Amino acid sequence: MAPRELVVLGTAGQAPTRTRNHNGYLLRWDGTSVLFDPGEGIQRQLLHAQVSAPRIERICVTHQHNDHCLGVPGVLNRMAQDTPGRTVALHGPAAGAQHLRNLAVVAAANVRVAVHGVPTVDAFVPVADVAGSALVARALDHRVPTVGYRLTEPDGVSFDPDALAAAGISGPDVGRLRRDGELRGVRVEDVSSPRRGQAFAFVMDTRICPAVHPLIEGADLAVLECTFAHRDLDLATERGHLTARQTAEAAVRAGVRTLVLTHFSQRYDAADLGAEARATIAELGGDTVVHVAADLDVVPVQRRS
Ligand SMILES: [Zn+2]
Repeated sequence: MAPRELVVLGTAGQAPTRTRNHNGYLLRWDGTSVLFDPGEGIQRQLLHAQVSAPRIERICVTHQHNDHCLGVPGVLNRMAQDTPGRTVALHGPAAGAQHLRNLAVVAAANVRVAVHGVPTVDAFVPVADVAGSALVARALDHRVPTVGYRLTEPDGVSFDPDALAAAGISGPDVGRLRRDGELRGVRVEDVSSPRRGQAFAFVMDTRICPAVHPLIEGADLAVLECTFAHRDLDLATERGHLTARQTAEAAVRAGVRTLVLTHFSQRYDAADLGAEARATIAELGGDTVVHVAADLDVVPVQRRS
C-alpha cells in the first residue's frame, strides 16, 4: 500500500535562514499528494525531496502571508513544464482568494488553476475528498483570515487472516466480502475487528483558540506551528502565534500521537522549543511523540493496528 507520510520541505516562519527554507509540507496519502503552505523556494525543495510536481493534486494554503504562499507561482510553473494544461485545485480562506488568484496569474503558467475559497467559520467546512478521506477546514485566530485543515479517513475494519482462512475466504472474495458485507453466510464482523480511521491535522499561524482542539483531536499526525517559546507568550499572543508549551498542551489534551513542530522563529534554537514541548508533555503525563521538524524530513503516519 502506498505510504502515508509527511515530507517536510521547509520549516522557517517569516524569513528563511541558512538551514531552513520557508515553510512547505507535502502530505502523501494513499497515492495522492497534497501540498500545504508552499513558501518561497518550495519548487527547489521539491527537487531536493525527490517529489515529482505532477503528482501534486491540490495545494492548501492556510492564509495569505508570504511565508505560506509565495511558492505557489513557482510550483505552478513547474507543474506546467511537466504536464502542460493540467488542472490543479488551490484552496485557501475565501477572504484571501483574490490573493491566490493573483499568485496564479503571476505564474502565467500553462495550468488551469481552480481557486476554491474556504469560508472562515467556527465549524468544519468540507474542502475535498482525498483518496476516500475527508479534507475539512476550520477558522483559526491569526492577524488575517486563516484556516486549519484536517484529513480524516473513515473508520474501517481489519480482517483476521486466520478467521478468513477458517471461513474459506481468500483472494478476490475478500474484496467481495468487504463490499457486500456478507459472503456465503459469513459476515464481515465475523472475520474482522473494527479499525479506527487515521487523521492528519495541519495547524499553522494562530493564537490558541477553541478551533485548535477539534482540528487535532485524536490525530495520528498533527503539524503545529511553534513560533515562540512560552517565556515570550505575550509576544506570541500579540502576533497571533503559538508557543511550544501551548502546542504541547493542546496535543496532549487532544490525544495526538505524533506532534510535528515547525514554523520556527530564527530567534530560537528549534531544539530548545522541542525540549519545552517534551517537558510539557511529561509534566502532563501525556504520551504524544514530538518531532522537531528539519527541512527534508520524512515523517510517517504510523498505521494503527
Ligand atoms: Zn507564518
